[in-house]
Amino acid sequence: MEDLLHSIEQKVKPLIGLGKVADYIPALANVDPNQFGIAIYSNDGELYYSGQANTEFSIQSISKVFSLTLAIKHYGDSMWQRVGREPSGNPFNSLVQLEYEAGVPRNPFINAGALVICDMNQSRFASPHYAMREFIRRLANNPELRSDKIVSDSEYEFRSRNASMAYLMKAFGNFENDVETVLHNYFDNCAMRMSCVDLAKAFSFLANRGFCQHTGEQVLSPKETMQVNGLLATSGLYDEAGNFAYRVGLPGKSGVGGGIVAIVPNRFSVCVWSPELNKSGNSLAGMAALEALSESIGWSIFG
Ligand code: GLN
Repeated sequence: MEDLLHSIEQKVKPLIGLGKVADYIPALANVDPNQFGIAIYSNDGELYYSGQANTEFSIQSISKVFSLTLAIKHYGDSMWQRVGREPSGNPFNSLVQLEYEAGVPRNPFINAGALVICDMNQSRFASPHYAMREFIRRLANNPELRSDKIVSDSEYEFRSRNASMAYLMKAFGNFENDVETVLHNYFDNCAMRMSCVDLAKAFSFLANRGFCQHTGEQVLSPKETMQVNGLLATSGLYDEAGNFAYRVGLPGKSGVGGGIVAIVPNRFSVCVWSPELNKSGNSLAGMAALEALSESIGWSIFG
């Protein structure tokens, strides 16, 4: 497996230079684009990796899966009155559908949906970001993980678009808590720093019927796990979810820090990272690496 990962790394590295690092905040614009890492974690607890798999990066929207998981654990099916389960076909930070759809976001993985989920977690935890950080540390088996204050402060400074979504949802009655407080928590979650190895481990419960091997915790039920994977397959890569299904064929979640996590149900969790993004905000070399890997091993769930 490690030989395969090395050869894929060599194959996709020439793509670095063709994309663009996220530049909507200075703290992300300054990341060195010339980086690549990949890690695979098996349900038997074996770890394979190549490149900068232990380098931490900003997980950004990948955090939306952890907040969704916390919300499901508490609210169960009742949460779906406040957020939908359909792909949006629009960029992750788009506002247009919210107005037409009475403040109910299309799915939990676009920004509007993730903000509603953070609002739900705000109603439940006194310190939602700390609850989330502890949860992630446990799942990744890494007590050192933390959020980057420079990134979250910068996100807050440039929050206009996310704030607009949250206030519009509040106007429609789909937001319970103080918007600014929820935004702080959302940005702190997005600014968590993790490596490919951390993320592959933290996502392993989704490849293992909801069971996290290293904590012995049943994080979600097998049914809830299937449901989350279904949502990841249809909406995890925003308006590129169809292309990801076509090229990779796995449930996945990306973030503008350049990370992409993918799940091979009942077998592996995978994380790839390279900071340069394509037009939809997904890692360009990361997509190519997952495509090559999935094709070499025959992983597509549609096969
Ligand atoms: N923090 C980012 C935002 O709110 C997350 C977006 C992403 O990773 N797609 O815009």
